[in-house]
Amino acid sequence: MSLKKCKECDGQVATTAKTCPHCGANFEHLSEQIGLWVNRVILVSFIILVFKGCGVYVDFKRLPKREQEILKEKFEEQWDKMFQKKQGQ
Ligand SMILES: [Zn+2]
Repeated sequence: MSLKKCKECDGQVATTAKTCPHCGANFEHLSEQIGLWVNRVILVSFIILVFKGCGVYVDFKRLPKREQEILKEKFEEQWDKMFQKKQGQ
């Protein structure tokens, strides 16, 4: 039986195990998360395209660096909320 390392607790886990016997981490969720990340990247690209179309993106570029950082943080915060909602389903 081959073993792999649990990403959550670094414990040894059988490659066939669906959950970690040490910390209970669910390995099946990994592929789901990758899928969600792909969706996320596609959505962000789409939003940027829409912003560009409206000229908002240009205005964003004119903002001072600090304002840009704050806006980015707020956007990511909102996004994380959406992301977590999706996971909870
Ligand atoms: Zn573990």
